[in-house]
Amino acid sequence: MNVLVINAGSSSLKYQLLNPDTGDLLAKGLCERIGIDGKFTYKPQIAGKKKLDAVDVPMPTHSEAIQAVLSALADKDNGVVSSMKEIDAVGHRVVHGGESFNQSVRIDDQVLAAIESCIPLAPLHNPANLTGIRACQKAMPGVPMVAVFDTAFHQTMPPRAYMYALPYAYYEQDKVRRYGFHGTSHKYVAGRAAAMLGKKPEELKLISCHLGNGSSITAVDCGKSVDTSMGFTPLAGLPMGTRSGDLDAGILQYVMNKHKMNIDEMLGVLNKKSGVEGISGVSSDFRDLEQAAAEGNQRAALAQEKFAYEVRKYIGAYAAAMGGVDAVIFTAGVGENDGAIRAMATDGLGYMGIRLDPEANRVRGKETVISAPDSKVKVLLIPTNEELMIAKDTAALVR
Ligand code: ADP
Repeated sequence: MNVLVINAGSSSLKYQLLNPDTGDLLAKGLCERIGIDGKFTYKPQIAGKKKLDAVDVPMPTHSEAIQAVLSALADKDNGVVSSMKEIDAVGHRVVHGGESFNQSVRIDDQVLAAIESCIPLAPLHNPANLTGIRACQKAMPGVPMVAVFDTAFHQTMPPRAYMYALPYAYYEQDKVRRYGFHGTSHKYVAGRAAAMLGKKPEELKLISCHLGNGSSITAVDCGKSVDTSMGFTPLAGLPMGTRSGDLDAGILQYVMNKHKMNIDEMLGVLNKKSGVEGISGVSSDFRDLEQAAAEGNQRAALAQEKFAYEVRKYIGAYAAAMGGVDAVIFTAGVGENDGAIRAMATDGLGYMGIRLDPEANRVRGKETVISAPDSKVKVLLIPTNEELMIAKDTAALVR
């Protein structure tokens, strides 16, 4: 079986074609500048097939983008399938499923309407995801399609974790609550952690640290998300590349008055000019921070320290929330590659039974146990694979 995984943005569309059973990737790529001047990238994973790197392809809408993807995948010289008939299903990443979806679903008209009803909760993402789905439906009539939501995994959180201490009507009438994001990634690494430890998910208390450009941490008890650091929006929780994470809401009024800003400008600062970039003034990229800190830049070092400190606090908080922890997982760009951040984030947690093995912690991007042999709590490095998770969910629903 081959599943096409689609992640549609407003002017871009990422795709992968993979086998959900073996995990084999056949091809992946990217359509960029949809509606502008159309750039198409295609990377077949089969020896001898030629790739395309940001070549000009007219893409006035997502429909032409999907057509370009299908033509490349089934191209007689450089394609990876002999015809479109070998694409058995499509899995779509959808950012927000609100309270309507606690798992992935086959897409039908009712599901499309429900995704549409979540647009107010994700005004930038859900419309783009819907555009991607409709373009695929047009190009591939009759091919089963599945929606996989970033929020679905977190729908198991209890009310005490998802409620904000605001007037209850904001929840009841306006749907203001913690939703959480990165659910597909947290679910994937939690599953892999159980496999690595040779345990059933129901036997484990896990803390999953997805640390990338956007970062979130999830407490996974018995295979279920019971709390997560992102909130009503992906702005909450940890400081990130350019996002502030949690802050005292009183700061908004003070800064907006002082700098004569409106709320849109303020939110722009919190989303795009804050986080480790805001503190360091250097970059949102942790590689740049590491280099600058090594060269003596104190603000870059402070940004790293602040980030790692907040990760450490969540580990402590979620161990308390679950009444213990069996394993801490590091994943995503920073979590998989930045040994220094992993070391700082777990430093001083020996009293909780968390001890890193400095030698093992040198590893990058490979499933590894990085805790010391006598560490009561295992620390795991697990590369995330959201596309494979989407393909597996899709296959399970289509079969
Ligand atoms: P996204 O949230 O956009 O999916 P990723 O999970 O791909 O992000 O993470 C991207 C981030 O990972 C980069 O901004 C960079 O800070 C970090 N990163 C990637 N490689 C390394 C590395 N070798 N060392 C430290 N940080 C890295």
